[in-house]
Amino acid sequence: MKYQRILLKLSGEALMGEQGYGIDSGRLQQYAEEVKKVVDAGIQVAIVIGGGNIFRGMQAEDTGIDRVQGDYMGMMATLINGMAIQSALEKIGIYTRLMSGIKVDQVCELFIRRRAIRHLEKNRVIIFGAGIGSPYFTTDSAASLRAVEIEANVVLKGTRVDGVYSADPEKDPSASRFTDLTFEEVLKKGLNVMDMTAFTLCKENHLPIIVFDMNKPGNLFRLVSGDKIGTLIY
Ligand code: UDP
Repeated sequence: MKYQRILLKLSGEALMGEQGYGIDSGRLQQYAEEVKKVVDAGIQVAIVIGGGNIFRGMQAEDTGIDRVQGDYMGMMATLINGMAIQSALEKIGIYTRLMSGIKVDQVCELFIRRRAIRHLEKNRVIIFGAGIGSPYFTTDSAASLRAVEIEANVVLKGTRVDGVYSADPEKDPSASRFTDLTFEEVLKKGLNVMDMTAFTLCKENHLPIIVFDMNKPGNLFRLVSGDKIGTLIY
């Protein structure tokens, strides 16, 4: 196996499947099965889940809710998604811990780095909820930060497209996919991989990112085994 400890970032939007809102049960189950394949191979897995299918802080401003309040609502949304993933994983026999960036004692543990690492060593899948626990950040930033903290080998950004393209492949048919890019190339070409905070954290800590299609069965396992799929940023 190429990687021993991975951080898998899943967007909230991916969870809603085709329905355009909330959590799609089929998608949830599918993701749990994909994670199981790598856990069964002995890989240590941490997951950061977004909340965009339920609420985004930016969205709050349109509804008259102030930004910081909106961001906390977004963090709560990630916890809801985290609880859903936790259930899906437990249903198929995987031990999990949901760790939050803010205190929600009745529901999950607070993120404590040493404890998180211990869970991984015991082959429990950790799900990081509530981002980093501070407003004005995204779950991409949480993914980078937690990955650095737990010394993950790589951040795997699971999306519905199979990598980073020269233009938006859903809009521009001539867009081509990159197989790998250096951090500098991403900046020079002005490509959108993650928000700047998240991207910089990975760059400065020499933590590679792979953007890949999480919806294709087997892709996660293939990546972890060392197959070249998606786009590697290093
Ligand atoms: N959020 C935040 N701090 C964090 C992580 C998330 O304030 O550390 C809020 C922010 O409002 C964000 C929302 O939670 O819009 C949901 O996360 P995100 O937009 O990253 O979800 P995704 O796009 O991955 O579904």
